[in-house]
Amino acid sequence: MMLETLSIFKNKCLINGQWLSHASLVDVTNPADGSLLTHVPFMGAAETTLAIDAAQQALGSWKLLSSATRADILLKWHDLIVKNVHDLAKIMTLEQGKPLHEAQGEVLYAASYIKWYAEEARRVYGDIIPSDDATKKIHVSKEPVGVCVAITPWNFPAAMITRKVAPALAAGCTIIVKPALETPLTAFALIGLAQDAGVPNGVINVLSGDARKIGVQMTASPLVRKLSFTGSTAVGAQLMAACAPSIKKLSLELGGNAPFIICEDADLQLAATELIKSKFRNAGQTCVCANRIYVHQNVYDTFAQIFLEKVAQLKVGNGLEPSTDIGPLIDEKATRKVIEHINDALSKGASIAIGGEVLELGENWFAPTVLLNVTQNMLCTKEETFGPLAPLIPFSTIADVIAMANDTQFGLAAYLFSENHRTIERISSQLEVGMVGVNTGIISTAVAPFGGIKTSGMGREGGRIGLDEYLETKYVCYDMR
Ligand code: ADP
Repeated sequence: MMLETLSIFKNKCLINGQWLSHASLVDVTNPADGSLLTHVPFMGAAETTLAIDAAQQALGSWKLLSSATRADILLKWHDLIVKNVHDLAKIMTLEQGKPLHEAQGEVLYAASYIKWYAEEARRVYGDIIPSDDATKKIHVSKEPVGVCVAITPWNFPAAMITRKVAPALAAGCTIIVKPALETPLTAFALIGLAQDAGVPNGVINVLSGDARKIGVQMTASPLVRKLSFTGSTAVGAQLMAACAPSIKKLSLELGGNAPFIICEDADLQLAATELIKSKFRNAGQTCVCANRIYVHQNVYDTFAQIFLEKVAQLKVGNGLEPSTDIGPLIDEKATRKVIEHINDALSKGASIAIGGEVLELGENWFAPTVLLNVTQNMLCTKEETFGPLAPLIPFSTIADVIAMANDTQFGLAAYLFSENHRTIERISSQLEVGMVGVNTGIISTAVAPFGGIKTSGMGREGGRIGLDEYLETKYVCYDMR
């Protein structure tokens, strides 16, 4: 069995420095062929309580370490991840399906958050504010929020964890991670390396199991002071409500519905190349994937032709094969959503230019698909498809495309292609989103604040703001008399 030969492979949960199994186990399968990879613990409320207690216990000494000491441990963790990039990527491709080169890219991207927050840990500065009253001195300092929990999805099994854990640990918080049951193995291997790097017992804990029971316990506990969640808007809203009674701090990174706008004066070759990256990365299963592609009517046919030629070259296959561009979808349900969106669009007048079918490789495999003559009232423009479907929608004026782009409750990412700086400024300033890519389809980086507005969430991950999410402000007023 290939996985067991990897030294970093683990199929147990980490609570207070102990790797624990469980009476109840659950299968982890490979989405490429349905084969069984291993079993992992199916933990519940009792183990969650143990992990919370361990994190609370560990908090006292972890937060008192100097930020330089915490930074050194984080840098060691970073180095171990980089050293093990190939094995981590293999584990990720096996449980998640994405092509190996994308998995390697994600592992390094995940590591970049740890390095960046190790560096930033040393710059948690306070303020001394001149008082209006000469007898008083005003000091403001930053303190860790305390015990945190992270609930993460399957589409980025490594990066969605380090985005949360790295700033938490840098700030002096302790954390319990609950990865998605589809992809617990990347989480275990990654967190195993944190332990090897010298992260003390209880500072990071990781649990796989019953999402609902673990979630209830995490949100109900008064010891947990912050929840950071990446996943669907529906689950995010439930967790937010569950956190209300104990007034937890929240970071929510939820669904998107990204518009990709191609203006009349855009560089069409560049737009097509970037659209391929934005749309088909991870088989279209990212929350910042282009979901609705608005193309100016005067360049619609020319752009469609350029784009279709590129789509025709994409190779769908097992992620372990080096030539693969697109792997399987995570499960059959994901395929059904793509089919539902295509059928709805066809019934309302759209047409398929390429793709449109489930592949012979199996029910998780869907051909990269382009739809033409798409309109604003179709499901594929209203909802996130989360699959390899690119709907092209014509538009005529800038005012129209801004209105169409903003006609959604989601507000995560948007992309904009134009060679005219006035057009770029006008559109980007009016888009109701947290992030805009101008003449690029790739925007994620550890140094910049990632996040959305409206029902796409609250809070930011990455950059300086991403550290503030794990810090509380304390103001001390000294009477100098
Ligand atoms: P996705 O569409 O990415 O699967 P989900 O919101 O269903 O989105 O899942 C994201 C994460 O939230 C996963 O780790 C999943 O196990 C977890 N999750 C799902 N439902 C709940 C819940 N009721 N309470 C806590 N966590 C949940």
